[in-house]
Amino acid sequence: MINKPKSEEIGWNFDNSYAHLPEIFFTKMDPNPVDAPELIILNDSLAKSLGFNADALKSEEGIAVFAGNKIPEGAMPLAQAYAGHQFGHFTMLGDGRAMLIGEQITPSGERFDIQLKGSGRTKYSRGGDGRAGIGPMLREYIISEAMHGLGIPTTRSLAVVTTGEKIYRETMLSGAILTRIAKSHLRVGTFQYAAQWGSFEDLQQLADYAIKRHYPEVETDDNRYLSFLQAVIKRQAALIAKWQLVGFIHGVMNTDNMTISGETIDYGPCAFMDTYDLATVFSSIDIQGRYAYGNQPSIAGWNLARLAETLIPLLHEDEAEAIKIAQEAISEFPEQYQSKWLSGMRAKLGLFNEEKDDGILIDDLLTLMKKHQADYTNTFRALTIDKLENNEMFSTTEFSGWHKLWKARLERQQESKESSRQLMRDSNPAVIPRNHRVEEALEAAVERGDYSVMQQLLNVLSNPYDHTPEQEKYTTPPRSPVPYQTFCGT
Ligand code: AMP
Ligand code: MG
Repeated sequence: MINKPKSEEIGWNFDNSYAHLPEIFFTKMDPNPVDAPELIILNDSLAKSLGFNADALKSEEGIAVFAGNKIPEGAMPLAQAYAGHQFGHFTMLGDGRAMLIGEQITPSGERFDIQLKGSGRTKYSRGGDGRAGIGPMLREYIISEAMHGLGIPTTRSLAVVTTGEKIYRETMLSGAILTRIAKSHLRVGTFQYAAQWGSFEDLQQLADYAIKRHYPEVETDDNRYLSFLQAVIKRQAALIAKWQLVGFIHGVMNTDNMTISGETIDYGPCAFMDTYDLATVFSSIDIQGRYAYGNQPSIAGWNLARLAETLIPLLHEDEAEAIKIAQEAISEFPEQYQSKWLSGMRAKLGLFNEEKDDGILIDDLLTLMKKHQADYTNTFRALTIDKLENNEMFSTTEFSGWHKLWKARLERQQESKESSRQLMRDSNPAVIPRNHRVEEALEAAVERGDYSVMQQLLNVLSNPYDHTPEQEKYTTPPRSPVPYQTFCGT
């Protein structure tokens, strides 16, 4: 075809289902243009899977869209309204520095939100400038892609552009915009917003929309809103178990940062645990340790109880009955989480079948790790590759005792040693985004404009279960005695 329009070359294929929800759920508006956008990084493979021509996305048109300077054909930009409990306190929030551009329908018929994060002020910005700094946006890019590599459901990162504008935080930073891809941006907080400020019909439409988009299998159930609640609980139980199994600490598990789809969202002060300790906290703003590693499952349960509360009008016409139904559904979360975690831990230890004392075997190992300040990831890696070195724990008699029990336990299952080893390789990452490695990559990128360090890190993190010699240098824990601190990056 002659004179093929550019948008066809890029492959935009928008639909805008969210924009058809009742108007209280969003504000239509265009992103705020920026001075001089420059593309820093584009996720080629993600672009392809979304049905985009990655090279065309690197064109002036693609960059202009990532910057908010151009609205692609078929898009209907809007800022979403939501509320949330932030550190336990309920408040009105909304997209204060983000905008949904539209929903891309992929060649295989899947629907993904395309959101610009850092795209300027909206109706929901309160005192904020609506902007984001390059460091935090690249950090979200790295960690979200690492989570994807680890096989953990997550929003993903398509691109980062710098804006050519400065933003003011503690210091002056280069402004940047992240293009975030998500199954949707529906949050527990979206339901809280509907329950607090919407009508019964608004709430019902939101619930029906969420069901259609994420849980179509419950659409024809007798009580579809109960089935929906149970399905969200189940997905979140599986998600949080995966976090715990790799030592991921989200850092700010407010209800607005918990998705309905079951994807991890909002990579602010998150980080991976090095030495095993349930009390680990990295976020500088989490003074009380509310979102410490060991608290994540119970906080998830708390957040889901807030979701259940919002659904009460839909669960049963009799309120007392509805509350009972909601409570029953919520009471299943701890058990569901525990069972996912336990089966994940069995896999980490190469166990296929179940024995009743497996929980004790696992707890004993974790207790030893805590006592000897063993590195969480590297302990499981050492067991996987059978190289028990680099930690004093391995030379203790207590550990030898545990190791004998574990070996005996492995002997009691039918599967071969090799299949057990393979299960361990598939369940224990050799590499995680170590804080000092992430910092090193960000420093090179932000301070020196050198993106090669980040690219290498992203490469290694894309195959964390490979256990190759090249990964070796990325497995070293940080040497710094100073506890690592992360900042919200807003
Ligand atoms: P977060 O801590 O990233 O989950 O954000 C919490 C709330 O603050 C959300 O409503 C954000 O949209 C809003 N927010 C964060 N940073 C900014 C900013 N720079 N300008 C305006 N709103 C912001
Ligand atoms: Mg948030």
